Parts: sequence; C-alpha cells; structure tokens
Amino acid sequence: EERLRAVRDRVRSFPDFPVPGVLFRDISPLLKDPVAFKALIDLLEDHLRASFPRIDVIAGLDSRGFLIGPSLAQRLGVGFVLIRKKGKLPGPTESISYALEYGKGCTEDALSTLQAELEIQSDAVEAGQKVVVVDDLLATGGTMRAACELLVRLKADILECLVVIELKALGGAAKLEAIPFHSLLQYD
Ligand code: 5GP
Repeated sequence: EERLRAVRDRVRSFPDFPVPGVLFRDISPLLKDPVAFKALIDLLEDHLRASFPRIDVIAGLDSRGFLIGPSLAQRLGVGFVLIRKKGKLPGPTESISYALEYGKGCTEDALSTLQAELEIQSDAVEAGQKVVVVDDLLATGGTMRAACELLVRLKADILECLVVIELKALGGAAKLEAIPFHSLLQYD
C-alpha cells in the first residue's frame, strides 16, 4: 500500500544506539514529513474504525506515544490519557515497576538490571471504558505490558495495544498474552 510505504520510507535506523548492539528505529523523519505523518494517522484511524465499533479513550505511552495518540484521538473524537514515567503526574496515581529489558545482552548488563516505573492518574479512565493503548514501537513488550497492567487496575476494557513498529525478533507480542495487539510495520 502506498500510505504504508510512505510511512516505512520515513523510519531511519541507527546502529549501536543507545547502547552497543541495539539498532534504533528513529521516527523523527516520519514526524517531520507532513505527508508521511498524515499517512500514519490515516492508517491507524482506518485500522481502529474497521476493528472496533466503539472506543472511549486513547492511552499514550511516555514519550513517543504522546506524539501519535493525541492526533489519533482527535480523529476518532475521543479523549487522550497519559501513561507516564514515574514522578511526572500530580494527584493520586497507580504505579507499576518493571524490568527494563531493552538492550539486554548487548552491553555489560548495564541496562538489563535497570528497573523502570510507569504511572497513570487514578481518575484517567473509568471502569469499563474501552481503551486503545498507543506507542511508537514494541520491542520486548515490557513497557506495553506494564501499561496494560495499570489500565487493568483501573478496570479499563483494553481493546488493543497499537504500535507503529514491531521488532519481531524480540517476541514482545507474546508477552502481551491475551491482549489484542496490532502493528503497522514489522522489522526482524
Ligand atoms: P520494550 O519495553 O517493548 O522493550 O521497549 C519499548 C519502548 O522503548 C517504547 O516505549 C519505545 O518508544 C522504546 N524503544 C525501544 N527501542 C526503540 C527503538 O528502536 N526505536 C524507538 N523509536 N523506540 C524504541
């Protein structure tokens, strides 16, 4: 498809970033090109409209999920909520700590032992609301899985986890278990 090609053409790869052994997929050119960026939001909107008769909320992951989620939410006429890294959100929150596996095995375990923490405001979604969780990329799936755990605690109904790029070789989709998952572009 032409729109998908426009998106794919605007993803660049950087070897050994942020640590040796990691091939970083950079979406900056995609955001910078208004035609490609529009194609991206069009594709995500079409996918969601075809998949779900009703969506209440788009939840975006810190930080590149914030670049995609709000545009998509506006298209669908629904609200956007933030799932942030620890310590950024005021008021009552739910938080979850998880192992940051990204970069594991690539360097002297510097990253593999790191813990990360995500938070959501306790009133971000109401029980039973139908939520789509958005991020730019799924690697090991740890971040997306933790985000879903937060939404489950708030009793949200998670319709799908949606990303632009899936790094297939890391098996992140399997980590999401029964939660539906969709990616626009897949890399080995
Ligand atoms: P995971 O928890 O699935 O291992 O890592 C996914 C998270 O790390 C996402 O929030 C994503 O933004 C970030 N990330 C990991 N690798 C890359 C990459 O190669 N490119 C981009 N743009 N983000 C990445």
